[in-house]
Formats: sequence, C-alpha cells, structure tokens
Amino acid sequence: FLLHQARFFTTVNHLRDLPPTPQPEVAFAGRSNAGKSSAINVLCNQRRLAFASKTPGRTQHINYFEVGPQDERAGFVVDLPGYGYAQVPGAAKAHWEALLSSYMKLRPQLNGLILVMDARRPCTDLDVTMLDWFAPTGKPIHMLLTKADKLNRQESTLALRKTRTLIDRYNAATGEEQLSVQLFSMLKRVGLEEAHAKIESWIVP
Ligand code: GDP
Repeated sequence: FLLHQARFFTTVNHLRDLPPTPQPEVAFAGRSNAGKSSAINVLCNQRRLAFASKTPGRTQHINYFEVGPQDERAGFVVDLPGYGYAQVPGAAKAHWEALLSSYMKLRPQLNGLILVMDARRPCTDLDVTMLDWFAPTGKPIHMLLTKADKLNRQESTLALRKTRTLIDRYNAATGEEQLSVQLFSMLKRVGLEEAHAKIESWIVP
C-alpha cells in the first residue's frame, strides 16, 4: 500500500502557505474526537503519525503527510482541523471556517474527501456543512463510520441507513455515485482494505 509509506511533510495555517506541490491530495475531515487521527494512523500503519498534530495550538492547522516511496512522492494525505469543539473563540472559528472552506472548495490538487464520523452519531449538522462545501466540486466523498466495534449489528445497520439517506440526496442532485460510505474500526481493524482501495484510487488513478 502506498499509504504504508507516509511521513510528515508540513503544517499550514494560512491559505498562502499551502504547498505548491502538484501531487494529488486526499483530505480527512471530521468532528474532533470522531476518530480521524486514529483512522489516519491505522491506514498509514503508524502509531503516532497524526497524533503529533494534536498538540494544543496545532489543532486548527492543516497537516500534510507525504505518501509513497521516499524519493518518489506519490501524493499527500491531508489532515484537516477537527470541528465541533464546544469552546472555540469567535475569531478562531472564523479563521478555521475560511481556511477549511477555501481549501475544500478551491484546491485543484484535492482529489477526494474522507469524512470520518463516529458511527454512534453520524451526519451531524457540521458534517453536513462539510458536504455542502465540498460536494459542489463534483469530486468524490467517502465516509468512514468509525468505532464500529462499539455497535451491534442492528445499530450498524441503522447508522448505515441514516448515512445512505443523506448520501442519496447528494447523489440524486448530481445523478452520480459521488458519495459512498463504509463501516470502519481502528480497534478491530474493520474496513481497512476498502478504505485503502478508495484512497489509493484517488492518488493513483
Ligand atoms: P480525532 O479527534 O478525530 O482525531 O479522534 P482520535 O483519533 O483522537 O480518537 C478519539 C477517541 O476515540 C480516542 O480515545 C480513540 O482511542 C477512540 N477511537 C478512535 N477510533 C476508534 C475505534 O475504531 N474504536 C474504538 N473503540 N475507539 C476508537
């Protein structure tokens, strides 16, 4: 897997600092605590790759991880700032919103979005906000319903059904299969292959 060769590349706090690199990017978004860092780490087969970016003060930043062989960069996994913190001052929230929405709407290198949601509370208002920013680009969105190990079969079915209802609305608007969803668990290693296949297809078409 390409992702199994991943290393920190850069941290970005302003749009003007986005790297001028031409390689394809796959971005991970999600509410804080949804399990985004855990998902990036397990998909990249590293214990701490994305946790380093969780240092206080760095949480509002965009973190780039380079993937592929050391001397032959294939693309980037981009860790977007988590959202949904209860206490974020107004100015920080406005900065976050401008940075994130501009990146998602305007970055040509961005090939697809992985939206990480806690399978116990999928499709919150803020998750829908991410879809509303990104879906108009026409680029693909793949949702990970993570912490699936915490749900029984019936609860998993309900979470998938709720998410698919939302997905159908967006797919109907474009007439395409732009959005997709799967169950995922870092703890039980559920759904790794499916997620890998999706992400790598966005990096190496
Ligand atoms: P982030 O804020 O979205 O980056 O979330 P983290 O990756 O830090 O995870 C938040 C919490 O959920 C941590 O305590 C993780 O150990 C836990 N967590 C993440 N993924 C899973 C999972 O697949 N299963 C379970 N049971 N817990 C998980």
